[in-house]
Amino acid sequence: MPMNVKPIPTLDERINDIRLRTAEIVNEDILPNEAALWGRSRDRETARELREEIKQKVKKAGLWAPHLPQEYGGMGLDFLAHAYMNEILAYAIGAAKLFGVVAPNSGNQKILLKYGSEEQKEKWLLPLIDGTMESGFSMTEPHNPGSDPRSLTTTAVRDGDEWVINGHKWFTSNGIEADFFIVMCRVAETGSMAQIIVPTDTPGVDIVRGIGIWGRDTSDHCEVKYENVRVPVENLLGQVGQGHQAAQDRLGAGRIFHCMNSVGQMWRAFDLMVERATTRQVHGGLLKDKQFVQGFIADSYIDIQAARLMTIHAAEKIDENDREARTDISAIKVFVPAAYHRVVDRAIQVWGAAGVSNDLPLAGMYLGARTLRLADGPDEVHRILIAKNVLGRYETGHTWDFGN
Ligand SMILES: Cc1cc2nc3c(=O)[nH]c(=O)nc-3n(C[C@H](O)[C@H](O)[C@H](O)COP(=O)(O)OP(=O)(O)OC[C@H]3O[C@@H](n4cnc5c(N)ncnc54)[C@H](O)[C@@H]3O)c2cc1C
Repeated sequence: MPMNVKPIPTLDERINDIRLRTAEIVNEDILPNEAALWGRSRDRETARELREEIKQKVKKAGLWAPHLPQEYGGMGLDFLAHAYMNEILAYAIGAAKLFGVVAPNSGNQKILLKYGSEEQKEKWLLPLIDGTMESGFSMTEPHNPGSDPRSLTTTAVRDGDEWVINGHKWFTSNGIEADFFIVMCRVAETGSMAQIIVPTDTPGVDIVRGIGIWGRDTSDHCEVKYENVRVPVENLLGQVGQGHQAAQDRLGAGRIFHCMNSVGQMWRAFDLMVERATTRQVHGGLLKDKQFVQGFIADSYIDIQAARLMTIHAAEKIDENDREARTDISAIKVFVPAAYHRVVDRAIQVWGAAGVSNDLPLAGMYLGARTLRLADGPDEVHRILIAKNVLGRYETGHTWDFGN
């Protein structure tokens, strides 16, 4: 079933045009070919050719790399336009990849753009953009809580013209393919945070394993040990002390994109659920006529509307540089993955056994939704932040204005 995308009356013509043209490629080129594109067919060469064909079409349509400035071959989209494009990209499996937005590379590209020197951009950013290099972001550590990044203990010690890095990380995504990691370290002398570029073939970088997740034996989320890893001082990104801010930059906007992705995927799950409900005969009638199923549809409609409007509201606040956006970002980071989880859960139920099969994207979505409640800050950390901001307001004699 194609995604139903029409112009939104409150959006300007440019964003509507981008949404419509994105939907055209998603509906005509990606959705009908999902199985062939992503290796469920045995013909890998055909899959590769098909992916290249679609990428060329995307580039020709001027829809490549919405997150990058035009001088780096991207669309130069402002934040809000990108968010609105994201919900459409997320509707089809892997579509974002075919539009040049691939995590964690896209987040690393943004960090390199903002904090990288001209030499670093030349050496690391350009190959990352043209696809000749891969990257990872290495922050979380097995023995320290990722929820509290100040606890991290990986150290960087300056020794002449080099940084010497020691530490133990895990869940460094894309670790198997990566040519370099951006490693979050604590500079030993001052205790300040710094992000340092570490090529993965540097002596002392030990990619211990791809951690098996969700019952699978392995994944590209890697455990990595850094043992006396030496890199040139030029590999420091920005200044010592900017590491924490750089990570926050990455996460703030990233959470909006993750939530818009979740909205696009919920939209897909919803369409699939309704499609099945209107065609499957059970106990002498269509599923759509059973009240249980009508309840699933109504509750999912409510979840999607609420998740989408909350996310757009938060995105608008970020776009206006509103300092209060922080509370809204945390609110969507708690609400949207949970709503996504509920919607997919209902869609799976309506589809029965087919719902958990690999014939449909629902099982993958279900695991993705659950994982999202941990990644980029677990729910509890965001709840704490919301409560802190709200209470801070009331404690200083003010109240909350939900209209702004
Ligand atoms: C699939 C996947 C991919 C990932 N990719 C990357 C990556 O590329 N790079 C990277 O650096 N990291 C990555 N991560 C790690 C992720 O960012 C962390 O898992 C996350 O920050 C949580 O840290 P933690 O796992 O150490 O949990 P902990 O910090 O140990 O927290 C465990 C639980 O404690 C609870 N909790 C935490 N704080 C509080 C509190 N104050 N009050 C009450 N309860 C609390 C929460 O329920 C939380 O889930 C990835 C994780 C996953 C699952």
